[in-house]
Amino acid sequence: PSMASNNADHTAKINNPNGPKADFMARRQAIEKHRKALPIAVVEKRLLEEVRNNDVLIIVGETGSGKTTQLPQYLFYGGFCRNGGVIGITQPRRVAAVTVAKRVAEECGVTLGQKVGYAIRFDDATSASTRIKYMTDGLLLREALLDPYLSKYSVIVVDEAHERTVHTDVLLGLLKTVQKTRSQGVNKNVHNRTIEAENGIQLEKENVVESTGIMKHNQGKNLSPLKLIIMSASLDAKIFSDYFGGARAVHVQGRQYPVDVLYTHQPETDYVDATLITIFQIHLEEGPGDILVFLTGQEEIESIERLIQERLPKLPESKCKLLVIPIFASLPSEKQMKVFMPPPSGFRKVILATNIAETSVTIPGIRYVIDPGMVKVRTYDASTGIEPLIIVKTSKAQALQRSGRAGREGPGKCYRLYPENEFYKLKASTTPEIKRCNLANVILQLKALGVDDILGFDFIEEPDRMAIIKSMELLFLLGALTDGSKLSDPVGHQMARLPLDPIYSKALVVANQFNCLEEMLIIVALLSVESIYYAPREKLEESRTVLRSFSSLEGDHLTLLKIYRASDEFLEKSKLVGSPDKAEKKLRKWCKQNFINSRSLKHARDIHSQIRRNVEQMGLCVTSCGDDTLQMRRCLAASFFLNAALKQPDGTYRALSSGLAVQIHPSSVLFRMKPECIIFNELVRTNQNYVRNVSTIDYLWLPELAPQFYALLE
Ligand code: ADP
Ligand code: MG
Repeated sequence: PSMASNNADHTAKINNPNGPKADFMARRQAIEKHRKALPIAVVEKRLLEEVRNNDVLIIVGETGSGKTTQLPQYLFYGGFCRNGGVIGITQPRRVAAVTVAKRVAEECGVTLGQKVGYAIRFDDATSASTRIKYMTDGLLLREALLDPYLSKYSVIVVDEAHERTVHTDVLLGLLKTVQKTRSQGVNKNVHNRTIEAENGIQLEKENVVESTGIMKHNQGKNLSPLKLIIMSASLDAKIFSDYFGGARAVHVQGRQYPVDVLYTHQPETDYVDATLITIFQIHLEEGPGDILVFLTGQEEIESIERLIQERLPKLPESKCKLLVIPIFASLPSEKQMKVFMPPPSGFRKVILATNIAETSVTIPGIRYVIDPGMVKVRTYDASTGIEPLIIVKTSKAQALQRSGRAGREGPGKCYRLYPENEFYKLKASTTPEIKRCNLANVILQLKALGVDDILGFDFIEEPDRMAIIKSMELLFLLGALTDGSKLSDPVGHQMARLPLDPIYSKALVVANQFNCLEEMLIIVALLSVESIYYAPREKLEESRTVLRSFSSLEGDHLTLLKIYRASDEFLEKSKLVGSPDKAEKKLRKWCKQNFINSRSLKHARDIHSQIRRNVEQMGLCVTSCGDDTLQMRRCLAASFFLNAALKQPDGTYRALSSGLAVQIHPSSVLFRMKPECIIFNELVRTNQNYVRNVSTIDYLWLPELAPQFYALLE
């Protein structure tokens, strides 16, 4: 098939002279044609047969073959939602859950949120009538806290399992137990004795029930068995098959055209610059086809986007038709959908993506891939408890996935911005996240699910024992676990219910006692998004002057709070004189003038409204400390005491819990002030250890507010 025929459904967007109805029909037909042309379409019947015959099925298929969008529809029409059962499909990434749900709703001709919906943290687009539900793996884990048997699901599809996120790994362990329990649940009355004989499982079941109090809800209600499907893009199905007792694996043939891989002669010193040069080189010298660039994060994407926009006007007019489209996790979802739209005629799209475009989201029209070979990952140092995001080289598997994106619709080209011999030195595959992350969050959730013996949990791959112990220690210090390693009441239970990093959940639970929950909700929301500051390099000084009007001498947290409140006030005022849409538009302008990233701010507002709802549902009282900023800072100290640092004679700082030498990041309002004692929220490791989001505190507060930690240090 040519590139054009694969994009068939996009052409239907062109206005049809026969009116909107004909337009609609043309679009439906185009979608049907597109669906039938997908590689997975020819095995629809066989796949349904396999799902009927196997309780656990593993499906491996090339990216773009139609697994994520089609399989749930096959299951729906194949009768797997009879009796009201829901098909749940998990994704490691929010972006994928949202864009795929929108696409599938459109393919089914339904409104999003009705039959087809999605749910991700801080955003739920489902209803009682939702039967095909896309969600993040983390979200399904949270659902298990309220419904330990995941009883509303008839099928659960764990998609992108090869990504091996920590949530996917834990979810697989949980689903294994749930499936066992549910298949017994059906026969509960008939085979009573067998259940009693299998003591271990019965015990586990009782645990679950006891700790969540869900028993009443499920009593007498026969649970239907659960079908489990694990989907993956890589060829390595064995690890999943082994984990599920030799479960059956089937392969879906994909289509892949040859991709010409090009390397640089020398290693690049500045890959951002090399990326820019390559984009323009392709644009000016190569034939038609869109460009996909793999970058490490929002900041990098936004800075390259600006650089392209700056250079574009310098090109001859006939060459200016380049459309830049960013895609990354925190981008508002209407913007995310833009990658799927065809460019205006004559334009070439350049998609600037994080590694979400590797396998999660299949973007049509790509013929050129630029791969600088870098990826941002979370790492964890169990000895210091530090969990920085760092930029590392990709694995071979990732490099291959990336180049594969160029050959989906026809022969393509991939530009690896490193020399060929470097490729052979790359690691074969990425280490599963569970082996390189802080496990506090996961342990908190497992405990809330009634899994007390974390070291004995049936993980697909065991995490490091030291990391488990360190994370339990952290939870203990935060007051979430008792001496006996049980979830504490109420703090541990409250923390487990919040969809946040334990350290932030703790801050909210503590804020209640300091009468500043209203303020802390805002701060935690702002700390949960990528930086809300936006300062182009050439306007750095100007931006600092403008932002000075917001800055608080007490630190970055109170500065963030001031900015949020100022923006809120501005928005409310604008709403009084104009429509909500107009007000939002005005707010974006306000952001620009004040060097604030309006996307990040919007994201923070959404998070704020959700966590506010969460704490209200938990019965916490949202009160404000008004102008009493001392209370605020005491609350920060009581929550983030593990990230305290003391000034040293040479003007640097020593982090008290890890012993690391750190410096205040130049972006902090405290950069020049250098107070005696600080707490911080983020540690950035470049050639120096920088701390960001810093506030000044009194050293003596630490033993007073966190004796469980600082009494030991004395
Ligand atoms: P897989 O999960 O096997 O990687 P998908 O089901 O995600 O494959 O994608 C199948 C096809 O659907 C691809 O050709 C992709 O380009 C197309 N597609 C997916 N999402 C969208 C969308 N939002 N808009 C247009 N096309 C889409
Ligand atoms: Mg997929």
